[in-house]
Amino acid sequence: MSWLQITTEALYLMQGGSNKYLEKVDLETGSETEKRLDFPLAWFQEGDDIPRSAIVSFENLPSEPDPYIPIRVTQPPPNRVDIQERFTIEGLTDVSNAGKAVIIEVSGFKVSSQPVDDLGHWQVQFVFTQAGEKSLTLIIGRDRATFNILVNNPRRFPLSGSVGYLGRNRDTDIRAVKQRLNDLGYTWVTATPSIDTGTLNAIRLFQAIINQHYQIRGAGVDGRVDPNGLTHRWLEAKNAPRWQLMPIDNTGLFNYERQIQTTDNHDYGTSWMADTLLAAGQDYQRTYLDAHPQAAQIVINDVSIPYGGDTPDHATHETGMSCDILLPRTSGGYLLPTWQDSRYDRDAMRAILKSIRRQPLTSRILFNDPELIQEGLCLRASGHDNHAHFEIRPPGRID
Ligand SMILES: [Zn+2]
Repeated sequence: MSWLQITTEALYLMQGGSNKYLEKVDLETGSETEKRLDFPLAWFQEGDDIPRSAIVSFENLPSEPDPYIPIRVTQPPPNRVDIQERFTIEGLTDVSNAGKAVIIEVSGFKVSSQPVDDLGHWQVQFVFTQAGEKSLTLIIGRDRATFNILVNNPRRFPLSGSVGYLGRNRDTDIRAVKQRLNDLGYTWVTATPSIDTGTLNAIRLFQAIINQHYQIRGAGVDGRVDPNGLTHRWLEAKNAPRWQLMPIDNTGLFNYERQIQTTDNHDYGTSWMADTLLAAGQDYQRTYLDAHPQAAQIVINDVSIPYGGDTPDHATHETGMSCDILLPRTSGGYLLPTWQDSRYDRDAMRAILKSIRRQPLTSRILFNDPELIQEGLCLRASGHDNHAHFEIRPPGRID
C-alpha cells in the first residue's frame, strides 16, 4: 500500500513498506514562507494502490527520499525465437524488491522464476513450447514489463508453389525448402533463392530416402517439392530423416569405416540408420557381448558418401539406408575373406544379425552363410561372402 510524504521540496508518493518514492510533485517556488502544491489527482483514482495515509512530521522535516526503481530491462528477450529455444531476460529492480519472486505470465499462466538478488538484479530463462505471436509479462512486486515475441516452429514452412525441377520456384519458397534441408544436415544446400545442382540432388536424395530406395531413382524421385505433397510433409515431420556422420563407436559397435579405413569416405547416412546402429549395438552388448566379452563388436563398414548418391564401390548404398557388417573372428577381431574361413565366429554373427533384425526399421539382410540362411536370418546374394549388407525402411511419419 502506497503512502504520502511531504518535504520542503516535494510531495512524494511512496512505495509501501519502503523509503523509496514512486512518483513526486515538486512544490512550486513561492515566498520564503510559502510554497504552492498542485495536487496530483491521478494518484487517487481507481486502483488497488491509492495512498490512504500520510506521514506528517512536526519536528525534523524528513530528508528527500531516493526514487524507487521499477523494472529496468538490461537484456530484453529476442523478438523472434524458435520453439524449444531457451532465452534469457535480465535486468534490475529496486533493492527493496530483493528476495521477491520474478513471475512470468504467458497466456494467463504464471510461473515463478529465481528471486531478485540482494543488489536488485534479476534474471529469468524461458522456453516456448507452442508457436504463434506471444505476449510475455514479467511481474516483480507491483511492476510489470510486457514483451511481444513471435515464436516460430522451424519445421513448418508453408509453400505458395512447387520448388525444384520444373517447379514454380518463387524466391521465398526456394529459401524455405533450402533452409529446412540445411537444418536437417543437408548442409551443402544454403538458403539462397536459386535452384542449383546441389539443391536438386539434395531433394532427390531426400525423396529416395522417404520412398525407401537404395539408389537415387525410382517412384517419387522427381526433384520437386509440391505444396503439401509427400516430400513437403516429410520435410516438416518431427522424425524427418537427417543427414549425418555415422556413429564412430558406441556400446557393442565399432565403425571400421571411420576408425581404420579413413581414406574412404562412406561415412554418412540417415539419422534413421544411425539410430538403428546404436540400438543394435546396445542390443548385441546386452544379449551376447556381456556373456562373451572376448567376441567382436558389430563392426560396420560403408554407408554412403558425404552428399549421398552414386558410389563406385557399391550398386546401392546411395541413400544412407544401407550398411555393411564385417565378419567377426573367433579371436575377437574382424575382417575375413569369406564365411568359409576357419576363423569365422558364426555364433557372434548369429547374435549380430539377430540384434539387427530386432530393430524396427530393418528391412532385409544379405549374407551367404548357408547355416544362417537356413535359420532365416539372412538372404543369399552374390558378392556377400565376406560381409553382410543390411537395409532399413522409413518409419511411420510423425507430423
Ligand atoms: Zn552393402
